[in-house]
Amino acid sequence: MRFDILSLFPESFESYFGASMLKRAREDGKIDIRLWNPRDFTRDKHRSADDTPYGGGAGMVMKPEPIFECAERALSEGPSREKTRIILFSAKGKPFVQEDARRLSRYERLILICGRYEGVDERVAEHLADEEVSIGEYVLTGGELPAMVVTDAVARLVPGVLGNVESAETESHSEEGVLEYPQYTKPEEYRGWRVPDVLLSGHHAEIAKWRKSKSQTIQNTKSQTKHETQDPN
Ligand code: SAM
Repeated sequence: MRFDILSLFPESFESYFGASMLKRAREDGKIDIRLWNPRDFTRDKHRSADDTPYGGGAGMVMKPEPIFECAERALSEGPSREKTRIILFSAKGKPFVQEDARRLSRYERLILICGRYEGVDERVAEHLADEEVSIGEYVLTGGELPAMVVTDAVARLVPGVLGNVESAETESHSEEGVLEYPQYTKPEEYRGWRVPDVLLSGHHAEIAKWRKSKSQTIQNTKSQTKHETQDPN
């Protein structure tokens, strides 16, 4: 699967995409990540990718031309437009959930557009992107972290990316609203806290029963707070 990421700060991606699972998936040819800088598609001598907002207001807005031209160049190679989904990251977009990761993993390519500054000229959302995606109800400085989040969540669903096929099928959210059971590893006892006996028993049926009983639903976790949440002030 191919990921074309449009960002004014492509260097932000190097360490995350150059480590661990994503690094291996790239080396094995399971995923192909291409980074594009819309600034390379500017035509003025200052290479301006942003300008002041019409109607006034704070900050700068990313201009449409470099983004359209950059996306069109990406589209001129690799999978066709029909097999490509174009996503614009936006704090006002639809919240990204695991079902979106599953849906997006069925495309051959994603084009991910990272905004900066006060955001992106609305014509990009209206005439280029297929959808606007938010990764949560907060405002980030740019779309680079959202692009890493979506690439990671989608890439791990691409066949062959995860070493252990089972883990994508049994982990949290693989079934709607269900969260994984607690996991333990060695040592058996740490600071007096013991691993539950059933996990050491070797009785597979009992272990399966215990895990099922400990799997949570999102509904339940919403009504729980593990530690008191207090305003530090
Ligand atoms: N003025 C915008 C607003 O009030 O919604 C915020 C712009 S934000 C500082 C700059 C860029 O970061 C956005 O264009 C978007 O690409 C990205 N961004 C910020 N928060 C995001 C979020 N929660 N989800 C996805 N993208 C986000």
